[in-house]
Amino acid sequence: MGEVNYIYLRKMIKEKEVKRIGVYPGSFDPITNGHLDIIKRAANLFDEVIVLISYNINKKNERFDVATRLKMIEDAVKDLKNVKVDSYNGLTIEYAKKNQAKFLIRGLRVVSDFEYEWSLASNNNFIDPEIEMVFLMAKKENTFISSSNILELASNRVDVSSLVPPLVNKILIDKFK
Ligand code: ADP
Repeated sequence: MGEVNYIYLRKMIKEKEVKRIGVYPGSFDPITNGHLDIIKRAANLFDEVIVLISYNINKKNERFDVATRLKMIEDAVKDLKNVKVDSYNGLTIEYAKKNQAKFLIRGLRVVSDFEYEWSLASNNNFIDPEIEMVFLMAKKENTFISSSNILELASNRVDVSSLVPPLVNKILIDKFK
């Protein structure tokens, strides 16, 4: 084997061994600046972050289709080099295993988030205790931002441009004009 190939192989093995991949799952329906803050902070903690739209094809209460949500997230994270975007219809933990991710990232806003996240974390721990949940606290100014809150405001033509990424704002304006 040539020396260059050998060095390349060593580099590949090393990367495979040490790459810390975190999956940030959610509905992102639509993505908000609260989500984006968690993504940026996670991108500083992990080698790679996968923002995962986890959806259920039987769930009918979705506001934006998966393709639109993907487009909105991809545009919002386009400058973050170690962030990828994907979607999955199934258990997030299965997706994480398939993609060699050892961490699931979630954001916590208020105490009421805790109960839901606790049951989610317990289920995940039951399925695979090797996968670690990592919780990042929302910034104070983002605690009131939720996708449903944004929709409520935008549908009443309140300016939400300071709460969502630019493409989301544009799509919301078009939707409710
Ligand atoms: P889900 O339907 O899985 O809760 P969401 O898209 O609503 O999906 O949220 C994904 C994750 O982001 C959740 O962990 C949620 O608590 C967190 N999150 C949502 N809004 C904010 C925010 N404003 N600040 C920080 N974290 C948030």
